[in-house]
Amino acid sequence: MVDIKSMTLEELTAWLKEQGEPAFRARQIFKWLYRGVTSFAEMTDLSKQLRQKLEERCTLTPPQVAQKQVSVQDGTIKYLWRLADGNCVESVLMRYQHGNTVCISCQVGCRMGCAFCASTIAGKVRDLTPAEMVDQVLFIKMDSGAPVSNIVLMGIGEPLDNFDTVLRFLTLANHPDGLNIGMRHISLSTCGLVEQIDKLAGYGLQLTLSVSLHAPDNETRSRIMPVNKSVGVEKLLEACRRYFDKTGRRVSYEYAMIDGVNDTDWQADLLTRRLKGAPAHVNLIPLNEVEESPLKPSRRVAAFQKRLEGHGVTVTVRRKLGGDIDASCGQLRRKAMGENGQRQWEKRG
Ligand code: SAH
Repeated sequence: MVDIKSMTLEELTAWLKEQGEPAFRARQIFKWLYRGVTSFAEMTDLSKQLRQKLEERCTLTPPQVAQKQVSVQDGTIKYLWRLADGNCVESVLMRYQHGNTVCISCQVGCRMGCAFCASTIAGKVRDLTPAEMVDQVLFIKMDSGAPVSNIVLMGIGEPLDNFDTVLRFLTLANHPDGLNIGMRHISLSTCGLVEQIDKLAGYGLQLTLSVSLHAPDNETRSRIMPVNKSVGVEKLLEACRRYFDKTGRRVSYEYAMIDGVNDTDWQADLLTRRLKGAPAHVNLIPLNEVEESPLKPSRRVAAFQKRLEGHGVTVTVRRKLGGDIDASCGQLRRKAMGENGQRQWEKRG
């Protein structure tokens, strides 16, 4: 069986040709897929035979809404999706002045092990498919009725650890007959896989690369982000510099403010020195408390911001949306797992 929605238009065209169908059918089918049909029967301008053929040879795996939480404060909507195999992932619709943004997941769980993150506590179960990534955006659009102008890959999972899928997703998201979102309206967030950052730079895409830095010194960063142990901050920032040189895109650095861990003046000063020489943007994130973690939100966000600004660093503080719902990624899935996902985890030991 063929996962038809994970194919690019070119691949679909080639595949249909193999099936003895004319090329123009590809665009017709592609467009139907992005209108959010959940069965081939809905593709009413195709012949009965072709619909039957697709039914027999292709899969369509639309996700089900397992849970939905709407913030009364700001209209943020958090979705927990049940995928075709019963696994769950989360996405969030956020309403900003500059347009609606959907934050999507790219893996079921995560294997990066960051100390502050709810998504990684039970490890990675599997990668998502391109179709499963596309569907999060598409079905949020259909369910909420809200137009979507921006996508951020900042949900569950590490995008650069599912590289080929994410690349294909970007093609599908960007295609005029696909999700039709401009590359400059897409952000990809990574914990900092250096080789893959270089690989991504090679494609010269105009998306925004967000790097989860969270500490400027190796001792702290290795403590809260195991991925740092093998690479180190210096090599990571060199890769970010190469990324900027290749793409011309300013790199954005995420920095979750953790009480007594990464919020001191000397760390602000070191961060400034480390970022010198290439355009950068620092986004300070008030830490979302995770039940299973002892880490607490910093009380020095404003002071840290001021210190950075004093050194001429471009810095913003992320506005907290959906404060009245479980809007930080990974938490809704963990709660749902406690109710009905346990067995699947036990199996993995
Ligand atoms: N794996 C990718 C993307 C997923 S996480 C990455 O590491 O960037 C998206 C962002 O949320 C990352 O910057 C991550 O470090 C941050 N994050 C995770 N848990 C958080 C928490 N409890 N509070 C604040 N930010 C958190």
